[in-house]
Amino acid sequence: MGFSTDSIHAGYTPDPATNAVIPPIHLTTTYYQDDIGKHKGYVYSRSGNPTRDILQKNIAVLEKGKYALAFSSGLAAIHALTSVLKAGDHAIVSNDVYGGTFRLFEKFLVDYGIKTTFVDTTRIENIEKAIQPNSKLIHIESPTNPLLAISDIQEIANLAKSKNLLLSVDNTFMTPYFQNPLLLGADIVVHSTTKYLGGHSDLLGGVLIFNSDELYERFKFVQNSIGAVLSPFDCWLLLRSIKTLAVRMERHNKNAMEIAKYLVNHQKIKKVFYPGLESHPQHSIARKQMRGFGGMISFEVENFEFAKTVLKKFKLFTLAESLGGVESLVCHPASMTHASIPKEIREKNGLTDGLIRLSIGIEDIEDLINDLEQALK
Ligand SMILES: *Cc1c(COP(=O)(O)O)cnc(C)c1O
Repeated sequence: MGFSTDSIHAGYTPDPATNAVIPPIHLTTTYYQDDIGKHKGYVYSRSGNPTRDILQKNIAVLEKGKYALAFSSGLAAIHALTSVLKAGDHAIVSNDVYGGTFRLFEKFLVDYGIKTTFVDTTRIENIEKAIQPNSKLIHIESPTNPLLAISDIQEIANLAKSKNLLLSVDNTFMTPYFQNPLLLGADIVVHSTTKYLGGHSDLLGGVLIFNSDELYERFKFVQNSIGAVLSPFDCWLLLRSIKTLAVRMERHNKNAMEIAKYLVNHQKIKKVFYPGLESHPQHSIARKQMRGFGGMISFEVENFEFAKTVLKKFKLFTLAESLGGVESLVCHPASMTHASIPKEIREKNGLTDGLIRLSIGIEDIEDLINDLEQALK
């Protein structure tokens, strides 16, 4: 089936008990046993819940994987993913990752004896150089946040396979509508469903998608042992959101492309970061592995002072963290989403104090451009 058909139907056929077209929200925590140990596959809702199962099946189909497991947030999912690492192991991570992912590897996992090297994964030789005898995992974001750098997923997957490493890809920015890392050879895909999959800025969640039975055993064990599961209500809300993912992504993409073109020609802007622009350094890789360029744009102005003035003047773009909702947001990564990364590391990676990040919503394009026009005046 096509993507939109799957997003609406995969994982659920009307409930034979009631013929309900929309899946019920199973709030129950426990399940009646006909006899000791005799049940219908559900015992306790942390271990298994029918609404969560429908969601997991749906997302597995969309992301072209055998299994999906849902967690209480994107970071809970990434934490579960890092359970492939044990004390003494080493990970290689994109240097331009989501701030919370950086914090998890750099400030939390170190206390468990897990070391991480952060490298610019847009260049394969950087990854090759970082590989150590105890390396187990390569974790990348493509495009990265907030600089929208693209790494060649297939090339990295080939390297990972030849060195017996696992490759996980954070696909939050692209969603399965625009990019399927498993089809490019990645082992694990992770999403913060808080963003585009949720799409309405009203739910927190995360999901892992993968093919290996062995990983399923591991991650299912972690999901149940740590207990950071997605609530039945949030599973249901996410299922509802996913039904419109394709139409939302088309509009995010169309609006963002027009705004990127507008920004490139603006004299007060030094630099625009958007993979859909031909001037983007990895535009050809983006074209090869993505079916669209998404709704995230960053741009650089002269300095922090000017950035602050611009940020204050927006009327329609809302100053807030997060992204991927139907409404347009603007943020200042250096002082907001990426403040947990030390300034010297930020600057080294190209994340300057003059950088402004936009999450382009699905409003009318004229209104968005008018707001940018007046804010930059
Ligand atoms: C937001 C985000 C996360 C973390 O997800 P939460 O749901 O906030 O825990 C991870 N990766 C990326 C790319 C994100 O944008």
